[in-house]
Amino acid sequence: MGLFDKKYCDICGSKIGLLGNKKLEDGNMCKDCQRLLSPWFADRRHSTVEEIKNQLAYREANKAKVTAFTPSKVYGNQTKLIVDEAKGQFLVTRSGNWPAENPDVLDLSALTGYEAAVKVNQTEEKTRNSEGKMVSYDPPQYTYDYTFKTRLLVNNPFFDDMDFEPFRSVKEKSVVVNGRPAAVHQAEYKEIKAAFDEMRAALDRCCACLSYEEPKEEAAPAVTIPASAFGAAPAAADGLTSFAFPSLPKSVSELLTLPGVSLHNPFSVAAMAVAAFCRFPEDRDACFAMIDALKGPQPLSNVDKSFIKDRFMDGKGYIPRSYFEGAVPENDYTPNQPYTVRVTESAHSRDQFDQGYITLYLKSGGADSERPVTLRHKPSTDEWFLWNHTGILAGIRTPKSADPWA
Ligand SMILES: [Zn+2]
Repeated sequence: MGLFDKKYCDICGSKIGLLGNKKLEDGNMCKDCQRLLSPWFADRRHSTVEEIKNQLAYREANKAKVTAFTPSKVYGNQTKLIVDEAKGQFLVTRSGNWPAENPDVLDLSALTGYEAAVKVNQTEEKTRNSEGKMVSYDPPQYTYDYTFKTRLLVNNPFFDDMDFEPFRSVKEKSVVVNGRPAAVHQAEYKEIKAAFDEMRAALDRCCACLSYEEPKEEAAPAVTIPASAFGAAPAAADGLTSFAFPSLPKSVSELLTLPGVSLHNPFSVAAMAVAAFCRFPEDRDACFAMIDALKGPQPLSNVDKSFIKDRFMDGKGYIPRSYFEGAVPENDYTPNQPYTVRVTESAHSRDQFDQGYITLYLKSGGADSERPVTLRHKPSTDEWFLWNHTGILAGIRTPKSADPWA
């Protein structure tokens, strides 16, 4: 028998094209016949011609079951587990036009068990430092990729299990909670996890759960962080936590809805204080209202207000905006767009963390030393409030246009 001798399919008898041969234990099969086999079948090489013929007869008979199948429950949004409760049957398919695909219809009584797991793949996000090296963010940032793995064990002459992912995978970014990265689930994950649990509960009614892995979840805060905290995740660079605002807030509601901010994140509260103080030269009452919102349980006293007014005297309205990137005395403290403020932590930031305080630092374009701002934690709501803001208003270098010696 020569190398290029034509082969014939032992199932249907047609000629098998070059490279089209599917080897069986005791014969050959063509691609067209292979396409008719069950998608769950995986043991072709060890199957005999007789077994393949039996399977094709089973597959042919399955078409009538597909036609009669009436879905009453659908689980999943990717590969779907579809149940016909009245007939006590189910099928698993990824196809949007499954009646044309002849998916295997099984009796629910053929289910012998199942495995379900939410697998998480954690990757650390890195950034390039000023020397071009990839470094961790501070605090580190992670991406979590959750996949919803399901495996049904079945009694079927041609396959033993059905492995699939009923739901599309969900990606989430870590968020900073009390200064540390944490996996806090968002609405999309919660919705899919609830649907996954609903599918598991339905499977529990038919068969035993053989293995189920609950995803490892990090300590989440007691309160849900608003969606805005995720939408514009702090764009940290060079190991700092930074916040970018497209515009500066004019009111409390604008302040609280700045992108990427949350009272649960003390870094964000420090950045919000900078943005709020910028309002003082135009509208001091609005500025005080915003600072009060950031001070929470302890609003500004009259003494505090006079102190702030003193700080802004003699046209020193430029002090708060000096904390935004690009603002230096040479350009009269004109920030780059968007308004980006960086908040850092030092070795002593958490010296009083146990008592509920954290001291963070802001870099002004008009001063050599970083300015401290202290925040205080409110445990009942897990929010951080402005405790000492005076560092933000400390004197800085005079802008060029106002400097007679420039
Ligand atoms: Zn064939």
